[in-house]
Amino acid sequence: MKIHTIGGYNEVGKNMTIVEIDDDAIVLDSGFFMPAIVEMQEEENQKHQEYSEKKLRANGALPDDILVEKLGLRSKVRAILLGHAHLDHIGAIPYTSYRYNAPVVGTPFTISVLKKIMDDAKIRIPNRVLSVNPNSSFIIKGKKRSYKAEFVNITHSTPQTSMIAIHTPEGIVLYANDFKIDNTPVLGLPPNYTALKKIAKQGVKVMIVDSLYSGDNRKTPSEKVARALVEEVLLTIKNEKNAVFVSTFSSHIARIKSIVDFSKKLGRDVYVIGRSMNKYISSANEVGICPFKKDIQLGSYKKRVESILRKVSKNRQNSLVICTGHQGEPGSILDRLSRKKLPFEFKQGDNVIFSSKTIPVPVNIANKENLDKRLKKSGVRIFDDVHVSGHGGREDLRDIISIINPEHIIPSHGSTQQLTPLLELAKEMGYRAGTNCHLLHDGQSIKL
Ligand SMILES: [Zn+2]
Repeated sequence: MKIHTIGGYNEVGKNMTIVEIDDDAIVLDSGFFMPAIVEMQEEENQKHQEYSEKKLRANGALPDDILVEKLGLRSKVRAILLGHAHLDHIGAIPYTSYRYNAPVVGTPFTISVLKKIMDDAKIRIPNRVLSVNPNSSFIIKGKKRSYKAEFVNITHSTPQTSMIAIHTPEGIVLYANDFKIDNTPVLGLPPNYTALKKIAKQGVKVMIVDSLYSGDNRKTPSEKVARALVEEVLLTIKNEKNAVFVSTFSSHIARIKSIVDFSKKLGRDVYVIGRSMNKYISSANEVGICPFKKDIQLGSYKKRVESILRKVSKNRQNSLVICTGHQGEPGSILDRLSRKKLPFEFKQGDNVIFSSKTIPVPVNIANKENLDKRLKKSGVRIFDDVHVSGHGGREDLRDIISIINPEHIIPSHGSTQQLTPLLELAKEMGYRAGTNCHLLHDGQSIKL
């Protein structure tokens, strides 16, 4: 078999990998490079749904799948499999998948989000778009044989994330791109150890593994810890008469659940505003994993958002707003609030909680710093980093590699600097760089 590393091996983002076996090829993910999207929005004050494929490509926002053409893989693609709903894994699907005569397959939440993205962009793709429940399988029809693709439930920062195990005659390809090992998740199922152990027994030829934090000597704490951090901060401000705004990742349904749960304990009405918040929460609700839907009031479009904010303005001590803008993104709710472009004005002592971490790329760092400055000018208290990551650290990676015991390892989801520590870890575990642990870049191919 051959593995083609299309995107996500030189940078964090535009994830795309292809597995080639004889006459067949299987695509894993096709995501956006988010910093490019943010920069484009800055320049033109537009939403990404308004861009053409050509423009996205020119700005480096899409995986560079030219290799697919060069290697003649296009007609071999039999399936496009999606690991989870984050935009750096599925955002490029509307602009890349139409080239392949193959279904797009993911868990129900992922597929629901994908459909909403396509509706927003007014893009229809000719591919069949199919849902597979967590911990079940999809059969891929190849030219001469079929392949089973198992969607094994794993924990991350968005629901229904899967490790994808593709069963081939040469062994299993395990695509483990974005996960942490969380044994006490706040929402959804814990990692499916039974399935992972079974897969290990059957023999894993190669594991493609999220190595973003392979350099951190830690086990990433459970989402339960983030829930406790949220509780702590909200209880700190419980007796205040001031406004409370919380911003977090729209796709992080478990986190939003924690914020809603503790807001209710404070007796505050919860309003959730912003287009992407609405998108992900609606998807979660559609697939039956949004237990707090009845406890919130959602606002997506301008008029509704403005009427909610007027209400909050008059009722500051009894309201809590969950909104977009934790990265200081232009056009987000917090951005517009801080620029006084919405009918709510921050006052001395109001609270803004960032249940997030600023993604360490220059455009986000600058946006967040400017947002903080404007908020502070209004006398707002800022609570940063009320957050725990969705990516495993070195000790999560060690555990998963010991369980899976793959023949080969390919680190993914970062630049050389971020991927290299995984090679060191693999070395400690008896692997040899270049022999059975392979540091690859975007646009490379390796025969195993
Ligand atoms: Zn992710």
